[in-house]
Amino acid sequence: MKARAIFLDRDGVINVNRPDHVKSWDEFVFLPYALTALRKLAARDFRVIVTTNQAAIARGLVAEETVRAIHAQMIAQVEHAGGRIDAVYFCPHHPDDKCGCRKPQPGLFAQAARDFKIDLARSFVVGDAFSDVAAALAIGAQPILVMTGRGREQHAEMIANNHTGHPIADDLLGAVEWILREENRD
Ligand SMILES: [Mg+2]
Ligand SMILES: [Zn+2]
Repeated sequence: MKARAIFLDRDGVINVNRPDHVKSWDEFVFLPYALTALRKLAARDFRVIVTTNQAAIARGLVAEETVRAIHAQMIAQVEHAGGRIDAVYFCPHHPDDKCGCRKPQPGLFAQAARDFKIDLARSFVVGDAFSDVAAALAIGAQPILVMTGRGREQHAEMIANNHTGHPIADDLLGAVEWILREENRD
């Protein structure tokens, strides 16, 4: 049977969103309960995969090697806390590049699906932005919007644009609990 995944956005879901971008490990601050949430997930039969837009690379604000190093540190810290991140996929492009991987485009998810043989229709996407929700809908996965990071402002904008009816959670821990509750209903 194909694997299922919980795709996590990074900024505003796992770590504090910075309007000026996370440019070094010093600027990477885990959100409250994010590590708890990842520990809860680790015990479950899901691939835990981070998909993140990092246009700061294309803008020359942070080097791609630095982003990779930040992710290595993030994974190590998550593992130290008893959690697990199976892979991180990032889009390094500028919005004007019109690439196929910048969310809401499905490229990062499609690549992960190939690499890990994931059934996207039985997977989840947790994000703090409409682009995460839109990406989830594009790949046929279940979106969950969190209220951390840009979540509140994005939610207000979604309501104004009639993009309603998607589950929302206070934070990543709330999203994980929502997913596990759904699991128990099957
Ligand atoms: Mg985000
Ligand atoms: Zn891209």
